[in-house]
Amino acid sequence: MAITTSPRGTADVFGENLQNWLKLERQIRAICRTYGYQELRTPMFEHTELFQRGIGETTDIVEKEMYTFTDRGGRSITLRPEGTAPVVRAYLEHKMGQGPLPVKLFYLGPMFRYERPQAGRYRQFHQFGLEVLGSADPLLDVETILLPVELYKACGLKGFVVELNSIGCSVCRPRYREELKEYIRPHLNEMCRSCQGRFERNPLRLLDCKIESCRAVLADAPLITDYLCPECSQHFAQVRSYLDLLQVEYKLNPKLVRGFDYYTRTVFEVTFAGLGAQNAIGAGGRYDGLVEEVGGSPTPAVGFAVGVERLLLALESEGSFAAEPPRPAGFIVQFGGETKVRAAQLMYELRRAGLHVEMDHLDRSVRAQMKAANRMNARWVLILGEEELAAQQVKLKNMDLGTEELVDLDAVIQCMQVEEE
Ligand SMILES: [Zn+2]
Ligand SMILES: [Zn+2]
Repeated sequence: MAITTSPRGTADVFGENLQNWLKLERQIRAICRTYGYQELRTPMFEHTELFQRGIGETTDIVEKEMYTFTDRGGRSITLRPEGTAPVVRAYLEHKMGQGPLPVKLFYLGPMFRYERPQAGRYRQFHQFGLEVLGSADPLLDVETILLPVELYKACGLKGFVVELNSIGCSVCRPRYREELKEYIRPHLNEMCRSCQGRFERNPLRLLDCKIESCRAVLADAPLITDYLCPECSQHFAQVRSYLDLLQVEYKLNPKLVRGFDYYTRTVFEVTFAGLGAQNAIGAGGRYDGLVEEVGGSPTPAVGFAVGVERLLLALESEGSFAAEPPRPAGFIVQFGGETKVRAAQLMYELRRAGLHVEMDHLDRSVRAQMKAANRMNARWVLILGEEELAAQQVKLKNMDLGTEELVDLDAVIQCMQVEEE
């Protein structure tokens, strides 16, 4: 372990990469504003029990992936591994359900899971998510699908597919569960160890096992969509007809399930082929059971989340998202002595006026200063020599046009601002 290396599964974000992050964050905030979602910033850590109850004791996240520790006061604390349970906790704590409904929230920030790091997958990763609480309207299921689709389109992403399913409710799912177990039981010894381990507690999860022999067993398995109760069936039909109305393309995938116990009815996943086996770039669904599970009164809710790193990886793989690097308005080249003093004064005057202007801090030659200005891609180079200073002027070079002119020192701001607009 070297102290000059960040811990495994973490990354520093800077430079060009940071510009892409900022661009994506701007897009996210803009679309959330348009769709009427308020930002909610929850703490980075919560009581461990919130995640045990809100995610489910038998999930991979809770069993193997949480960063859990006992604090100095003897409390069990967990770094948040996902955003939904904290949002529900905050919704209940601040009695948001007593205000206007539905409550529409979004979050954007770091999450923590102890996983094997791979492309786009980190132990500290970032998620953008939406939650709509207090309404069972199928139109809101559609909104949580539509918003990310519009976000991906606004970012220029093309090769993504929305997969959709309904996993029923506490009325109809138990019967399906039993039918599925009946079907699988005689083949259980042909399945992988992880499927065998999940069979009793969470048989639906076997449907999304990626291992070939498991997929072969499940090829003719009964499908949840054939077991939906009339209410779930009607809800699913409404979701699909709204998606058609709004021209959102999707693919029905009756084997799509989710790793969380609290999902009901609508589940969806957005996949992107360019990312290999772990190809999801967003997932969501309805979770009408969660608020009650966390201690509130029964409250319908629906949400969506996407890993920012994975989305950026998808965007970068299509090559259409590169953010423009920031470009200084000006760079002041000076000749030392009095010209440096006056250059410093001018630089801060221009910055006060809102222009990003730089100068040399390494006592470099004029030639090297010109080089630095070029490297930064400054729009203007302001040359302040002894002669210019004596005349209270500066030589203003437009680096895009290759033109230059002598300008009075007190008129520099106007000349540069005109160009900025
Ligand atoms: Zn149902
Ligand atoms: Zn398996």
